[in-house]
Amino acid sequence: MKVTFWGTRGSIPSPGPHTVKVGGNTTCIEIETGQGHRIIIDSGTGIRPLGLKLIREKHTEPIILLFTHSHWDHLAGFTFFPPAYHPDFKLDVYGNPMALEVLRRDIFDRRDNRYFPVNMDDFRAVIKFYEPMPKPLIIGNLSIDTINLNHPGNGFGYRFDLDNKSFAFITDNEIGMNYPGGNTIEELREFCRDCDVLVHDAQYLPSEIVQHKGWGHSTYIEAIELAVKAKVNHLILTHHDPERDDDAAQALVEVARDYILSKGYSLFCELGIEGQSLVL
Ligand SMILES: [Zn+2]
Ligand SMILES: [Zn+2]
Repeated sequence: MKVTFWGTRGSIPSPGPHTVKVGGNTTCIEIETGQGHRIIIDSGTGIRPLGLKLIREKHTEPIILLFTHSHWDHLAGFTFFPPAYHPDFKLDVYGNPMALEVLRRDIFDRRDNRYFPVNMDDFRAVIKFYEPMPKPLIIGNLSIDTINLNHPGNGFGYRFDLDNKSFAFITDNEIGMNYPGGNTIEELREFCRDCDVLVHDAQYLPSEIVQHKGWGHSTYIEAIELAVKAKVNHLILTHHDPERDDDAAQALVEVARDYILSKGYSLFCELGIEGQSLVL
C-alpha cells in the first residue's frame, strides 16, 4: 500500500514562500493498493495536481473517492479535478452522508453559475454515489472501516487494512470532546489499535486549543497519547493551521518529539508534508 499526501493544510489553502516545505494545499490523500485499486480521501485543493497526474498517466481504472466530511476545505478542489471532466474515468463516491449530501446539492445538482462558471453537466466521467457506506467496505483484498469524528457536523475517519498492513487517517477530530454522534476515546483507541501508521489532526498547539475548544481539532499531545495507547509506532500530524509557516511547523514537530522523549515513549512522529509518499 502506497500513501501519498497531496494536501495536508487545514481550513484554507496557504500558498506562499513561507509554506513551500510543508505545502499549502488542503486535504487530499492518495492510496494505491498495488493490486489495481486507487483510493482518494477528500477533494481539498490538493486533488487538482493529483488529477493532472492521473490524466498524464492515462490512469483510467475506477477510482474510489472517500469523503471525511462536508467542510469546504475538504470539498473545494472537486470542480478542479480534471478526471471528473474526462469520459474515460469512473469515480465511485463513498463517505460521510452529510459530505455526500453537500456534494450533490452544491456541486452535482447545481445548474447555475453563481458559484462556478462551468455547468456540472460538463462532468463527463461516470460518477456514482454509494450510500450508505458499507462497514467495512471491501475493495479486493483491502478492507476500509470508518469511525465517527468528534467534529462540528460530524464526519468519518478511515482505517485501511491490506495484507497485514494497516493505515488510519483521522482528521478534523477533537480528541476527548464529546460531540453528539461522535466517538469516545476508547472507541478511537480500538479503531487505531496496532496500526502501522496513524495520521491524525494536530492543528493546534496546547497553548492555542483553549481558544479553539469546540472547533473540532486536536493538539500534538492528544494525538501522541492516542497513538501510544493504541500501540501505534508511527504518527503523522496533519491539518496544519494556515498560520503555521514552515518554521512554525518544524518547531511544532520538535516540541512533539521532545514530549515523546520526556515520556519515554517509543514513537516516531513527523509532519504530513505535501508531496510525501510512504509505502507500507
Ligand atoms: Zn478541515
Ligand atoms: Zn472540518
